[in-house]
Amino acid sequence: MAEISLQFPDGNKKQFDAVATAKDVARSIAISLAKKAVAGKLDGQLVDLNAPLKHDGAIEIVTADGEDGLTVLRQTVAILVKAALKETFPEIQFGPEKGDADGFYVDTDKSDGQVSVDDLAAVSDRVSAMISQKAEISLEQLNQADAAKAVAGNPYEAKMVADSEATVFNFYTVNGIRVLSEGVSFDNAGAVKFFKLLSVAGAYFEGKSSNPMLQRIYGTAFYKQADLDADLQARQEARERDHRVIGNDLDLFFVDPKVGAGLPYWMPNGATIRRTIERYVIDKEVGDGYKHVYTPVLANLNLYKTSGHWEHYREDMFPPMDMGDGEMLELRPMNCPSHIQIYNHHIRSYRELPLRIAELGMMHRYEKSGALSGLQRVREMTLNDGHTFVTLDQVQEEFKKILTLIMDVYKDFNITDYSFRLSYRDPENTEKYFDDDEMWNRSQSMLKGAMDDLGLDYYEAEGEAAFYGPKLDIQTKTALGNDETMSTIQLDFMLPDRFDLNYVGADGEDHRPVMIHRGIVGTMERFIAYLTEIYKGAFPTWLAPKQVTIIPVSDDKYGDYAESLRKEMAAAGIRVEVDHRGEKMNYLIRDAQTHKIPYTLVVGEHEMADKSVSVRKYGEQQSETMAASAFVDEILKDIANYSRE
Ligand code: ATP
Ligand code: ZN
Repeated sequence: MAEISLQFPDGNKKQFDAVATAKDVARSIAISLAKKAVAGKLDGQLVDLNAPLKHDGAIEIVTADGEDGLTVLRQTVAILVKAALKETFPEIQFGPEKGDADGFYVDTDKSDGQVSVDDLAAVSDRVSAMISQKAEISLEQLNQADAAKAVAGNPYEAKMVADSEATVFNFYTVNGIRVLSEGVSFDNAGAVKFFKLLSVAGAYFEGKSSNPMLQRIYGTAFYKQADLDADLQARQEARERDHRVIGNDLDLFFVDPKVGAGLPYWMPNGATIRRTIERYVIDKEVGDGYKHVYTPVLANLNLYKTSGHWEHYREDMFPPMDMGDGEMLELRPMNCPSHIQIYNHHIRSYRELPLRIAELGMMHRYEKSGALSGLQRVREMTLNDGHTFVTLDQVQEEFKKILTLIMDVYKDFNITDYSFRLSYRDPENTEKYFDDDEMWNRSQSMLKGAMDDLGLDYYEAEGEAAFYGPKLDIQTKTALGNDETMSTIQLDFMLPDRFDLNYVGADGEDHRPVMIHRGIVGTMERFIAYLTEIYKGAFPTWLAPKQVTIIPVSDDKYGDYAESLRKEMAAAGIRVEVDHRGEKMNYLIRDAQTHKIPYTLVVGEHEMADKSVSVRKYGEQQSETMAASAFVDEILKDIANYSRE
């Protein structure tokens, strides 16, 4: 009989029959290992415990401990879910399924209406029944031709089999129902301990919007109850912070793929938050010496040829519009070339430098449809962009000034969890970078010197600089613990060269300026997604779409008094409304809390008599009665104080 040679993780090699399975291999090491084994891993690929290994390679035995063990468990549950779905809906067809470190999913297409969350309980019960009956999960491996026959009639699986490079395909039979799986499985449902079906959402087949939309059923599974509980709690926390969920609940924005994936519509509430931030940013920047401009989102394609975007960034750009008369127009993916036009519109003198040009610049990037997510990743975005033109001597001072501005803004938004990364060129590979040693050496040491002068902690990353210059990235942590680059300061020696930028020096000669790209809060879209998550939708008063709601105890009796208060407050610039719905007071107060309105004022007979208000702050149980004028003073102070603690 043919033999195969398997290498163990410790380097030892051993011969086995070609038909030996991972279970046989485990048994040859120790019976206890065979009992614990849930799958094998041959050359890094998970293989079913009971499948003949057939070829030489590096073998590992996968047990319940660790990520691979979880993956096998989740793939097993995905198979049981498919079988349970087929029992419930015999006509159902499946697309891909996957189990991994995040959980599992199964893609489905049910011709007569789609699977919904309401179906999950019944499906879950059937899976539980298979587990308690210790149903056998038997493996059958088919070659490509036989697999194709087995899935004929299902367009999705037929395509998956046809496109696959695999030579064997795993089919599993449970309770007499056979399903194709791209994963591997336990051989008995009884080994599954704790699982949960979580949600259902649409997902295009193969992630392409030109393909049919399937219904994706999400779930997860664990070996221990405590792990499942912790995971469910973390998911709950993530849901409570998810800016897409909050955005919907608070009516901030929507994205509708029918009118354009990744192209958000800002509803009045979201628009109010955005307008408040935009005004704040412009005021801050103008106060710091920036000249704010407006420049077009469209430009002749040649502009992006000169800048190099067309050559290096084309994949992320929308295709050019051919106007039919030889003119090609392009939606800009970045604002830098536009600000260069502003610089170049006049002859510049050294006396004008540093010249700071800023804009809330709208730009378009063709992000992959699968990467789009709420406001976090969109295709049309508005960047808090700015470009400063300086002499090489001014780099350090300007860098400090920008950094100080950034940290000042962070304070106003109460952003405290951030770190600095200073990126240099790779000293071993200087030929990979824009060729000007003096610029690199002097500017890198100026950036480092600035960080030291400001007494900031930072880490240095050699080889992480852009081709065109060194940079500082400021990394923040999102509420869900992911790293995100919020702000950056990037030096650029290349664009001034490509666009032949000059200034007239004190010597009367032309000199090349250095360009500094800087973003403070990034794009409005991603920044507001971030804020929504860190604030859990409870925006500080200065940003809240509605800052005050006034609830009359009886609309008939005190509605007029409430209106008079509203007028007074609105005149002071406060965003306030009276709730005239006349519903039960407790209901209205609860509703105001659900909408996370910072201040709820209740007014009745007593308040009307002495021109006072009963104030309840968001998240507090107690209310306090105070003179209406005192309340106005308090809220104005609150607004002026931004989000500072
Ligand atoms: P990413 O790596 O996230 O794609 P990037 O490095 O391409 O971003 P930059 O070109 O530096 O981003 O863009 C500046 C800022 O624009 C980023 O810090 C980020 O805040 C924001 N941004 C980039 N792409 C998007 C997008 N698709 N949707 C929303 N904001 C974006
Ligand atoms: Zn730029």
